[in-house]
Amino acid sequence: MPVRSAPLQHAGMRASNLALVLRELANAAPLSRAQLAARTGLTKSSVSGLVADLLNAGLVAEGPAVLAVERGRPGSALALERQGAAGLGLEVNVDYLAAVVTDLTGTPRYHHVLTRDNRGVPPADVLADLSGLASAAAAAAAEQDLKLAGACVAVPGIVTEQVALRAPNLGWSDVAAAAPIAAAVPGTPLGVRVENEANLAALGELWFGQKNLGDFVHVSGEIGIGGGIVVGGELFRGAHTMAGELGHVVLDPDGPPCSCGGRGCLERLAGLEAILDAASAPSRAELEERCAAGDEKALAAVALAGRHLGVALASVVNLLDPETVVLGGAFAVLAPWLRPAVEAALDRHTFSSRPRPCVATSGLGTDAAIRGAAGSVVRRVLDDPAAYRSRSTA
Ligand SMILES: [Zn+2]
Repeated sequence: MPVRSAPLQHAGMRASNLALVLRELANAAPLSRAQLAARTGLTKSSVSGLVADLLNAGLVAEGPAVLAVERGRPGSALALERQGAAGLGLEVNVDYLAAVVTDLTGTPRYHHVLTRDNRGVPPADVLADLSGLASAAAAAAAEQDLKLAGACVAVPGIVTEQVALRAPNLGWSDVAAAAPIAAAVPGTPLGVRVENEANLAALGELWFGQKNLGDFVHVSGEIGIGGGIVVGGELFRGAHTMAGELGHVVLDPDGPPCSCGGRGCLERLAGLEAILDAASAPSRAELEERCAAGDEKALAAVALAGRHLGVALASVVNLLDPETVVLGGAFAVLAPWLRPAVEAALDRHTFSSRPRPCVATSGLGTDAAIRGAAGSVVRRVLDDPAAYRSRSTA
């Protein structure tokens, strides 16, 4: 009925206009109200009302700076509030735990990494320690007048919003990973979500990494190997949110057994552990040192991994035709020695009637997933500030 739906339509329109104004400020702050009106096509009085709401919600700050005089009147500079809502990103990986807090602009305000081996440790114990990191991050955020809007936990495996269904390299199955974190940082407006680490790394690259990558595949090289696919500026998740499981692309059906139950998966041939074994190096740091020093065994191990990676990526490229392949995680660190072999394999094995994609190195390195995790919380605030405000005041 029109009488009943009119207020709902109005509320929906206001919510989308709030998001529109906030998105402009996220893209191009500082802006005056007049500039916002020009950029959004909204009237100046609408913009003034929307900005008042956003100032009230603590999402926008009004600076003392005066922008260019417009029609005789100076406009004050509006920008995202850097003391307001913040996102907490957490990561469980095979050999570390990490926490990052970013403010609404996506700028990291707190960063902590705990290097340790999580294999064979009961999931409850890992999550207890991650909860400790979350509490410390929340305290550090509060000291900076930041208010956690929510948290996102990156896990190297298949996940639902609340549960890590299967993370073979951690030995996890059906682990309710969100609940203990929610207990450690209670009362956040957007709560706690779990997300695949490789997908978050791709989003981290999309939001905070190099620009103009076009459609790209981000490869997270750790002990496991994950892929994140970005098409048209959006993450491609697949029918069952399992797209991008690059590490379990089979290169040799008779190859070494994999934690997934299969054999000859890419990550058994080109993952960090396989490289360290082949190089007889005890750690990534030492592997890097040896590569830099020209150690033949280390260089050969990295080059062999690069060839395997390039062969697997050639199939990805033939299927998806991306503009860029981004080497991330430990592969970013090893890129000077890994990339030539990846490129050679791509040159050899991609369908040759077109240019092969550019192979880029992530500037975020091993922080891509954690930045993406914190960024995904912030993004939910920016995408729907009305929902965030109503949950904040509930
Ligand atoms: Zn596998």
